[in-house]
Amino acid sequence: MQYDVIIVGGGPAGIFAALELAGKAKVLLIEKGRAIDRRRCPMKEKQVQCVQCKPCSITCGWGGAGAFSDGKLTMSTEVGGHLDEYLDREELKKLVHEVDQIYLNFGAPEKLYTTDSKLLDKFVRDATMADLHLEYSPIRHLGTGRSQEVLIAMKDQLIAQGVEIKTSLAVKRILTKNGDVTGVETDEGSFYAPRVIVAPGREGHEWFTDEASRLGLDRQINPVDIGVRVELPKVVMEHLTDHLFESKYIYYSRTFEDKVRTFCMCPGGEVVAENNSGLITVNGHTHSDRTTENTNFSILVSKTFTEPFKDPTRYGQYISSLANLLGGGVIVQRLGDLLDGRRSTADRIKKGLVRQTLTKATPGDLSLVFPYRHLVDILEMLQALDKVAPGVYSRNTLLYGVEVKFYSSRVKVSTELETAIKGLYAIGDGAGITRGLMQASCSGIIAARSILKK
Ligand SMILES: Cc1cc2nc3c(=O)[nH]c(=O)nc-3n(C[C@H](O)[C@H](O)[C@H](O)COP(=O)(O)OP(=O)(O)OC[C@H]3O[C@@H](n4cnc5c(N)ncnc54)[C@H](O)[C@@H]3O)c2cc1C
Repeated sequence: MQYDVIIVGGGPAGIFAALELAGKAKVLLIEKGRAIDRRRCPMKEKQVQCVQCKPCSITCGWGGAGAFSDGKLTMSTEVGGHLDEYLDREELKKLVHEVDQIYLNFGAPEKLYTTDSKLLDKFVRDATMADLHLEYSPIRHLGTGRSQEVLIAMKDQLIAQGVEIKTSLAVKRILTKNGDVTGVETDEGSFYAPRVIVAPGREGHEWFTDEASRLGLDRQINPVDIGVRVELPKVVMEHLTDHLFESKYIYYSRTFEDKVRTFCMCPGGEVVAENNSGLITVNGHTHSDRTTENTNFSILVSKTFTEPFKDPTRYGQYISSLANLLGGGVIVQRLGDLLDGRRSTADRIKKGLVRQTLTKATPGDLSLVFPYRHLVDILEMLQALDKVAPGVYSRNTLLYGVEVKFYSSRVKVSTELETAIKGLYAIGDGAGITRGLMQASCSGIIAARSILKK
């Protein structure tokens, strides 16, 4: 029951912390979800509505939220989290490179999506003319399927190096004494260590928020991103996706000056439904072993609240629940129908040029779901994108709603990601510090190195 380090959460943040500590310290990693080979989603496998498994196999279990994800590793210090606020840019750059090498060693594909500088200059110029900012970063695409192979290889190595892994066990409380962390409490008893790394991801953010409040840790509110998943023929974006794979565009809307961005571009991919703590929202994947004729990506509107409302997560849940109420899950609408002020029907969608890849989505009317502000922001963004990729603002383009990205409130930590409680580290998405695989993995290494140094 006594360890040098206990890690809470088996997502990329926790796994990379364990990889760094393995062989150098006695480590216990506790994960509330299932082992990777036992993670099964009835909604995906049997094409049924979400049956609200507890714990949810999509977001919980070995590999964390990223296990069934598209696995796009973004080689950037600027996107996917706030680590640039804790680390010197050059140091972070080195760490990103190191993490990339580790993914490669565990079987990530060699191919890196980059582009030559002349072409990039042209893309940036075209974006500027359309009032868009292009945020470019090379991408390594693991692909759904390959991510799991990489995660299994990591688990095997950790076990071989003596790391103890307990799955299907949730940490209930973080134990402290006189301002120092002493261990964790679970249904199987308490486990003790002078260092605890908490990496609970979005799934564990409510639990960690409660724990942080109980322990008196300071937090800062992050925004909520709400929007749609756009699906269109692959050819429309091919001149961009062939070179950039993921083109991240940022736009400040004319009407509201809101930050609107594209996210998670999936060339040849599929739109998927996901369970977000009981709410059915939308997302996208590109598989490593099969492609479709479409490309999908999301358009997200970022919103921060100040006074008196301070609960962006609840706001996002409320908007998503409207789509669930009206459509029984995800709603899909042709852009042309939205502009004509009428709902989409199965017949109208069939007449369009885009084959709906998320067949379970209900044809409906997104104007009944989104606030005016969000709808205007999304339409303005589609118009701006049409200038860099003519065809985006086609009447046939499909819009799926709601896509929502919740971000955990950010716990106050040192540059080594240690909280005000000595020995307690808070990392990854659950601590509100990261938002993607690359930075979550980096955060694990930062915490582990701090512990090894001490
Ligand atoms: C569908 C989908 C697609 C994505 N695609 C990409 C992508 O292509 N590129 C990218 O960069 N990012 C992507 N992401 C985001 C990425 O997966 C996350 O940023 C990353 O997984 C965060 O890592 P983490 O370790 O902080 O948290 P997580 O991966 O969420 O892992 C946290 C783990 O902690 C466990 N846990 C929570 N509470 C407890 C507790 N009390 N006790 C024990 N265990 C607990 C959870 O079960 C979970 O397994 C995607 C996410 C999703 C959901």
